[in-house]
Amino acid sequence: MKKVTFAIFGAILGIPMSYYFQPEMLRAKVGGLGGYLKNFDDIVNNSDLVGNVFLSVIIFAVIGGVIGYFMDENEAKNKNVGNKIRSSSGSNQSIENQTNFCPSCGERITDGETNFCENCGKEL
Ligand SMILES: [Zn+2]
Repeated sequence: MKKVTFAIFGAILGIPMSYYFQPEMLRAKVGGLGGYLKNFDDIVNNSDLVGNVFLSVIIFAVIGGVIGYFMDENEAKNKNVGNKIRSSSGSNQSIENQTNFCPSCGERITDGETNFCENCGKEL
């Protein structure tokens, strides 16, 4: 769910970054990003400028969402690889625990310690 978090962070980042979306005349007037944020109330109340703020917020939210989306994808891929490794080591274990069968009568040998078949008494 990183894409949601990143989209929110992107939207927040879009607020100060909207400074770069404003006309050069305004940027010169406020004298930098600090002055822009100080006068942010006036910017938001200006119908010509608030559109640029929204534009910036949306653009950065989308960028954040896309970055988060790919991070989610990578995480899902890594999880799948981890599961594959775990399941293959699990199958190795089942081979080790495989039960033996008597070569003479085919009876299953449940006791791994015994040297004789419980069914026919043949030496194993
Ligand atoms: Zn046997």
